[in-house]
Amino acid sequence: MANIKDYSSIVGQAVIDELFLLADKLKGKVIQNVNSTAVGGGVAEILSRMINLLRQLGVDARWDVIKGDEKFFNITKKMHNALHGVDVEVSLKELMYFQEVNRQNAKEMDLCGDILFIHDPQPIALVEQKETLGKKWVWRCHIDFTTPKEEVMAFLKLYIEKYDSAVFSAPAFARKLSIPQVLISPSIDPLSDKNRELPQEVINSVLDRFGIDRTRPIVTQISRFDYLKDPIGVIEVYKRVKKHIDCQLVLAGGGATDDPEGAKVLEDVKNAAADDPDIHVLLLPPASDIEINALQRASSVILQKSLKEGFGLTVAEGLWKAKPVIASAVGGIPLQIAHKYSGILTHSIDGTVHYLKQLLYEPGYAQRLALNGKEHIKNNFLITRHIRDYLLLFLSLYHEDDIVGLNEMGL
Ligand code: UDP
Repeated sequence: MANIKDYSSIVGQAVIDELFLLADKLKGKVIQNVNSTAVGGGVAEILSRMINLLRQLGVDARWDVIKGDEKFFNITKKMHNALHGVDVEVSLKELMYFQEVNRQNAKEMDLCGDILFIHDPQPIALVEQKETLGKKWVWRCHIDFTTPKEEVMAFLKLYIEKYDSAVFSAPAFARKLSIPQVLISPSIDPLSDKNRELPQEVINSVLDRFGIDRTRPIVTQISRFDYLKDPIGVIEVYKRVKKHIDCQLVLAGGGATDDPEGAKVLEDVKNAAADDPDIHVLLLPPASDIEINALQRASSVILQKSLKEGFGLTVAEGLWKAKPVIASAVGGIPLQIAHKYSGILTHSIDGTVHYLKQLLYEPGYAQRLALNGKEHIKNNFLITRHIRDYLLLFLSLYHEDDIVGLNEMGL
């Protein structure tokens, strides 16, 4: 694990010094994170890096994962889809079961944190314990809230408004709420195995292992197998581009323990890929960070053709590696890409086909976009900025009516 001091070579010593100063003001406070999976997806990705770095800064940060059976995660996936605007019904009985599993978890967990930092809808109902436990409660929402199904949203709101504040990833997700809302974008860790520099031999050996040809262009989308990532749309794009350019497509991803839909999506993807030897559908086991890093670094163009997206860490990961990224203009993605400056934003299969051809035909232009993208990620979406935002948020919970006080503390 990287040492927090090593980040100074990327972001400067002053940034690290400030983190230590802020962290010092949280001495004695326990920050307890709770989410629903230890592996798979962006939330686990961030927590697995963040907790260790916070501890190095002297903050007592912890991470617990709620337990649930298949029925629970089927319900939470339905809720997840409904919150992303997909037309699915979640019955009252299902919502009651959701609540029951949350109550069971609350009984079994040691909710000892001074700040309970609850991630996403799955464990949201733990906040029922606030009445008896007190403490500070923050709900961290990582999902795309632009067009939620109102019934599920209304149910969730009953819990959200019990929190002391809510954190969203992009301004577009702000809701009418009776509690304060904070905007904090996610981030990537430039020193993790997923993002650090890799020797060319490592990249080559990963490509060889997966049978990918190093001499022809590689177009890649890394994502959990989820309909909202539109892998079938990506295959359609590839097939149309392939008529003009002899490229290969890599669709790589694994599952998440809180996402039971993955197997079905993977089967559909394999069917759509049929027997085209230039489509590489790779089911990656957890902890495939070096493989993902290598696949991203070997790519000519990276796609993220999501239909909905909370933030899209894979966009930041691609740009950080100075790769041209074409991504849908949804959720948090436009925060990361300024169209035709630091990447390409698209709204359709046609648009994605058009720009993919252009970037493959014009590598010089693609490289300019990629370098601008890397600079943008460096300035805005690295984990050090994210830690600073969280530390300020935690401190603000103890100074709700005291903005002057915060100023006096030099914050
Ligand atoms: N990821 C991974 N293995 C996979 C698929 C994805 O480690 O098989 C990582 C990916 O590199 C990124 C994160 O999981 O760091 C996905 O975050 P993102 O915000 O793109 O999407 P989410 O899965 O949270 O919807």
